[in-house]
Amino acid sequence: MVIVGSGFGALAAAKKLAKAGTPFVLISQTTEHLFQPLLYQVATGVISAGEIAPPIRTILAKHPNADVRLGRVVDVDPDENVLTYEAGGERLRIGYDSLIAATGARQAYFGRDEFAEFTYALKTVDDAESLRQQILRCFEEAHTTTDPEHRRNLLTFLVIGAGATGVELAGQIKELAQRYFAASLDDLGPDDVTVTLIEGANEALPAFGGKLSEYTLRSLEKGGVDVVLGTFVTEIDGHGAELKDAATAETRRVTAETIIWSAGVQANDFAGILAERTGCETDRAGRLLVNPDLTVGARADIYAVGDMTSLNGLPGQSPVAMQGGRHVARIVLGKHDAGTPFKYRDKGSMAIINRFRAITRVGKIELTGFIAWVTWLAVHLAYMVGFRNRYVAVMSWCGSFLGTNRAHFYYAQTLTEAPANAMADSEAEQKPPVRIAS
Ligand SMILES: Cc1cc2nc3c(=O)[nH]c(=O)nc-3n(C[C@H](O)[C@H](O)[C@H](O)COP(=O)(O)OP(=O)(O)OC[C@H]3O[C@@H](n4cnc5c(N)ncnc54)[C@H](O)[C@@H]3O)c2cc1C
Repeated sequence: MVIVGSGFGALAAAKKLAKAGTPFVLISQTTEHLFQPLLYQVATGVISAGEIAPPIRTILAKHPNADVRLGRVVDVDPDENVLTYEAGGERLRIGYDSLIAATGARQAYFGRDEFAEFTYALKTVDDAESLRQQILRCFEEAHTTTDPEHRRNLLTFLVIGAGATGVELAGQIKELAQRYFAASLDDLGPDDVTVTLIEGANEALPAFGGKLSEYTLRSLEKGGVDVVLGTFVTEIDGHGAELKDAATAETRRVTAETIIWSAGVQANDFAGILAERTGCETDRAGRLLVNPDLTVGARADIYAVGDMTSLNGLPGQSPVAMQGGRHVARIVLGKHDAGTPFKYRDKGSMAIINRFRAITRVGKIELTGFIAWVTWLAVHLAYMVGFRNRYVAVMSWCGSFLGTNRAHFYYAQTLTEAPANAMADSEAEQKPPVRIAS
């Protein structure tokens, strides 16, 4: 038995197999089980990466039937039941009787992959940490620069895509400006920082729609975020982006030092490999159009779950991946008959907007505001792995949301060196030397 991945789908399947005492090998290209919904809090210094990325090896350590391997799966031979993976510079092969693939998704740039070079993403721990460095660098440099235009660009943040990730990041960056940085930067006025959230659809959080999207829009605007709906990004370079109004086709250019891309996802590469080897069809985002029982193509021994799949329009969310992983594990353990269709139990959807504001939909019940915000935190806390991580997260939330603290906002880069002749002419006037109190 082989599981590929260490995210929500893979871990859910692994836990079931582990508890049943069935031997299995789990191969993942990352050592951690990443709790992606809280990545935005790592990017904005609320919590540390360690709290949301415990090692998958540690999680499964107490099960001797679990063999965890760090490796990247690169091929599969369904006729020979053999998987090929790369680990430690070697190309290795492993046989399987059942294969469960849960390799997730990555950012999609709609055929403009060059946008990746100029934008920040939020999919991995590295993404979150490099965005955090960038945000911090921008505020620090804005405090010292003598060039007003450079300062304005440093303090302008463009977030592309008003899905859950875009909304939570836009809300948080504005809050950072108003609460965390404003507490120590006397020269930072409330209007100095511009956060613009750009969305092609005519609603924020279009997956929710109606009153919840309207509430999201109002809350973001109240929090100082500029929300630009019905607008597409047509060009991005190192200094800004070109925006096109969907209705009028008018274009305009905005300059910014930080552009965050959260506009779409596509299945990771292994989905394409599986599709090719099994003849399974994919959708436009490269997701496998799996059978109702989550098998892939005509193979009864290969299953795929989570973000790399598409079935009945189910959303790319962690409960879908977890329930899919458990369903498949039950089939391979013989607890469900082979061919049993996957039935998703929708326990509701939620999204966080900013401090004290979120939206929740459970069946016909819709909640907004503080109560939805508390519900969001409580639900996500419950799904975090490990008591210590939960405890530390609650402490960090109190510090950041009740106070203005960001315990994990540190800067690990080396400072940008200035060329020898880069002394600003007017530096002495603009930035007088600080008097040190005796
Ligand atoms: C910023 C952000 C916020 C989100 N917020 C929410 C939210 O609030 N609520 C919600 O329900 N969902 C949310 N989601 C979506 C949720 O995280 C995903 O639906 C979920 O992670 C999907 O689980 P998965 O197992 O399919 O894939 P993932 O969790 O992405 O796991 C994929 C795994 O496969 C591994 N892998 C990939 N390719 C290979 C390979 N070739 N070989 C070996 N290993 C490989 C990766 O290392 C990773 O371990 C959010 C996602 C993001 C990015």
